[in-house]
Amino acid sequence: QTFEEGVVADPLLAVRNIQHRYDSKLAVSDASFDIAPGEVVCLLGPSGCGKTTLLRIVAGLEALQQGELKFDGQTLAAPGRPHVPPEKRSVGLAFQESALFPHLSVLDNVTFGLKGMPARARRERALELLAQLGMDGYSEAFPHTLSGGQQQRVALARALAPSPQLMLLDEPFSSLDARLRDRIRDDTLHVLKQVGAGTLLVTHDPEEAMFMADRIVLMRDGRVVQVGTPEELYCGPADPFVVTFFGDVNRLEGVAQRGYVHTAVGPVATDLPDGARAQVLMRPEALRVVEIESDGQHAHHSHVLMARLLGRCSLLHLCVHGIDGQEAHMHARVPGVFLPREGQAVQVSLDPAQVFVFPAEASGLEA
Ligand code: ATP
Repeated sequence: QTFEEGVVADPLLAVRNIQHRYDSKLAVSDASFDIAPGEVVCLLGPSGCGKTTLLRIVAGLEALQQGELKFDGQTLAAPGRPHVPPEKRSVGLAFQESALFPHLSVLDNVTFGLKGMPARARRERALELLAQLGMDGYSEAFPHTLSGGQQQRVALARALAPSPQLMLLDEPFSSLDARLRDRIRDDTLHVLKQVGAGTLLVTHDPEEAMFMADRIVLMRDGRVVQVGTPEELYCGPADPFVVTFFGDVNRLEGVAQRGYVHTAVGPVATDLPDGARAQVLMRPEALRVVEIESDGQHAHHSHVLMARLLGRCSLLHLCVHGIDGQEAHMHARVPGVFLPREGQAVQVSLDPAQVFVFPAEASGLEA
């Protein structure tokens, strides 16, 4: 990682070279990134990569071991400094297992953090947030009568109510079913932007990160792999891990020759030097497929092995034949209802924007 990627001018939160161990286990290794005021940053990565540990360090739930945290230009945590407890940091917290106060109503849970405000204003603020998160009508209910998803929304409202400068959210939508999740994500993003809170959101779901984030910090094995906008990561992945983390890919191998790697689907441009062994990663969306007349001999044509309608797109399994006799089994995802029969001869071409070439030894495919 070139560290400059993660830096912004006048950040609200600066995370610098954080390292964290549990006994001998290195959970976070040299992590650095910034959050600008009002910016939503997602910590994204597979289970166990250190996302929650980093979030807990920022929250003050975990003592900082190495590195530095700066809030609004001031050192918030550094080795040798007294620990600032969570309640003394201007952060709002909503975690996966966020506990509501069981003896307080939904409304009282949300107004809890709004001290120093007139009672009427507190009530109005809480009711407004509950309505924005689809929880109007529940203000007098008690937590034990709510579903897990409803409790999560109340916890979000409680965290957002004091309009903290920084919100920390750990998998806040995890116990919602798919349809409700889309709506609550939408509502939460709207409220975060309205409040103008800088946000650090932990998720292992790339689609959630792309929807919520202004910038994504992608982690793997305790390290920051790449920092950038969703578009920068999706369209300019730093290594094969980044490509594969955002979804299924076709992987072909080849050798660079005069600026190209020749694959079964055709030549792919590359900067790799002549003779270098290369891996070519193609998203299923990169393949363009059209039906062609067959001369009856399968072996000469690319053809369809299987076609399935998934709803918004169709998934095709293809046997692709190159002009130089190369053959490859590949997956294509094509928009709409396109269901060629098994054995149908097809011509396959590439959208170069969805194709990435890396040296053969570049890692990340075990993701
Ligand atoms: P998940 O998405 O599954 O929550 P994560 O990316 O948030 O994962 P962490 O919870 O930060 O990852 O864990 C990072 C590593 O540190 C993991 O290998 C985990 O097993 C280990 N770890 C986390 N908490 C502790 C702890 N309290 N004691 C010992 N090891 C821990």
